[in-house]
Amino acid sequence: MGDPRVPEGREARATAASYAPPVGDLQALAERISECRRCERLVAWRETVATEKRAAYRDEDYWGRPVPGFGDPAARVVIVGLAPAAHGANRTGRMFTGDRSGDWLYGALFRAGFASQPTSTHRDDGMVLSDAFVTAPVRCAPPSNRPMPAERDACREWFTAEMELLERLRVVVALGAFGFAESARWLGLSPRPAFAHGAEVIAPDGPTLLGCYHVSQQNTFTGRLTEPMLDAVFTRARQLAGH
Ligand code: SF4
Repeated sequence: MGDPRVPEGREARATAASYAPPVGDLQALAERISECRRCERLVAWRETVATEKRAAYRDEDYWGRPVPGFGDPAARVVIVGLAPAAHGANRTGRMFTGDRSGDWLYGALFRAGFASQPTSTHRDDGMVLSDAFVTAPVRCAPPSNRPMPAERDACREWFTAEMELLERLRVVVALGAFGFAESARWLGLSPRPAFAHGAEVIAPDGPTLLGCYHVSQQNTFTGRLTEPMLDAVFTRARQLAGH
């Protein structure tokens, strides 16, 4: 069961303004997100990881908090992942930043003209996104990259509020089945479309949902997702966004 306070689909979009936190812009929302402690299990995990650290990063201060979305507030293309990685975004405080998944994603965004540089290593590295915004349905790093349904539902408020603030949004690129399902729900798609790499679904009120394999090492190391495949998705996103 989802959170009973959260209506589904288009109704959720229509009522998001009353349901979302009373914030006026993405920066204020980001500050509210980064203070959230709603999910006991994920709060404990993100903070344990941030304290124990990976040996390679033992001299760094981990972020260890929820990770807000990142990018251009006027973006027409939004990229939706799953959740922060324990030693990636949970360490650096920026989505897909500081790990191999991020190398793949930002490399592709750079090649497609959405990113100012090909690598995203830390929050102060100067990266600027143009016409793109990177986010995820769950904002705290989950053990084994698997949030529980109740955690997904608890975090939906933040995802909805952030997406609603992207007023120029025209294309949602969902990386993996989890982000695809949450994006389809937010877009009000019914029946819910099945995830597939290359899937393309037009929502009733305009935005197009594109499916793409997640940029996890599980996919990129095995060749399930290649750079040309990823580039093709962002080329299509550019077309749909009107570039
Ligand atoms: Fe809050 Fe989302 Fe983190 Fe849960 S996963 S504690 S709802 S930010």
